[in-house]
Amino acid sequence: MTRVDRVRALLAGQHLDAILIHNPENRTYLTGFVGSAGVALVTGRETLLLVDFRYVEQAAAEAPGWEVVQVPRQATDIVTEIARGRELRRVGFESDGLTYKQYDELAVALRPTELVPVAGVDRLRWIKDADELARIRTAVAIADAGFTHIQGYLRPGVQEREIALELEFYMRRQGADKEAFETIVASGVRSSLPHGRASERVLGGDEFVTLDFGAVVRGYHSDCTRTVVIGDASPRHREIYDLVLAAQRAALQGIRPGIAGRDADALARRVITEAGQGDHFGHGLGHGVGLAIHEGPTLSPREEATLEAGMVVTVEPGVYLPGWGGVRIEDLVVITPDGCDDLTAAPKHLMEL
Ligand code: ZN
Ligand code: ZN
Repeated sequence: MTRVDRVRALLAGQHLDAILIHNPENRTYLTGFVGSAGVALVTGRETLLLVDFRYVEQAAAEAPGWEVVQVPRQATDIVTEIARGRELRRVGFESDGLTYKQYDELAVALRPTELVPVAGVDRLRWIKDADELARIRTAVAIADAGFTHIQGYLRPGVQEREIALELEFYMRRQGADKEAFETIVASGVRSSLPHGRASERVLGGDEFVTLDFGAVVRGYHSDCTRTVVIGDASPRHREIYDLVLAAQRAALQGIRPGIAGRDADALARRVITEAGQGDHFGHGLGHGVGLAIHEGPTLSPREEATLEAGMVVTVEPGVYLPGWGGVRIEDLVVITPDGCDDLTAAPKHLMEL
């Protein structure tokens, strides 16, 4: 089934005449159009892409098979006109794709057409096809090369911000569209901050530095975390690092299709909890990655969704000790028919630089 066919199956299941797609990643996934604004409308027979003046030419080039309709910045009136002209009685919208204000305006303008919240459009993106996987693999390879490159800059006296800039610049020069998210460089005591953005702190000696970074290649993201020691690792550094690595290995060995996201999470969490550090692993084990850096399914204690071959998820256990430091190790994997394939090749033995 094509991507549009899968949306139409969603329509039929909920007795909808059409669906409006506002979420940018879903819009890109369906249409190919990568502009920053626009709404896709899928009916039983038609596919319309509503864009403002800035994007008419681009949309026509990027979204073959879609009828491009020019709309004013406020598309409400045109949507109403289309709904009336085609006698669309029940129109779905993404419950997490509209602001309350947008919903309110649209619902009033469309009357008597009913506006129906739809969940699950994102889910159409969970299983990746060969082209998507190829883009993700390239984004991973660029980040892996970035990790090799940046090791030469990891030494006492260098600012976290400088490291982030060098890494991002390098990845761009290797062909990345941009960085996948704000690069995290967290050194010394800051390494206990799971999302410590690169600061003006200068790297010291005999301390951890955690780097969390990724590249975007033709819309698709990669996501990698490595923690290294600047100088010499203490026994405590080794103990915490080995624990996180053991937890990640347990997860990588056990992740396979048919288990729920929460079971995948438990594979790593059990190892950390048994070592008495469960309270210091306060986030989920991982998340889906694709057109968005964070998408479904998640690997977390509450995720009931089942893993299937073709899904791409991170595996990123961490242990964070406030006032001392922390370790996270993150790889990107694709679920295969009998397990998972680790896409990340960056080394993960404890490095002392
Ligand atoms: Zn990450
Ligand atoms: Zn991540």
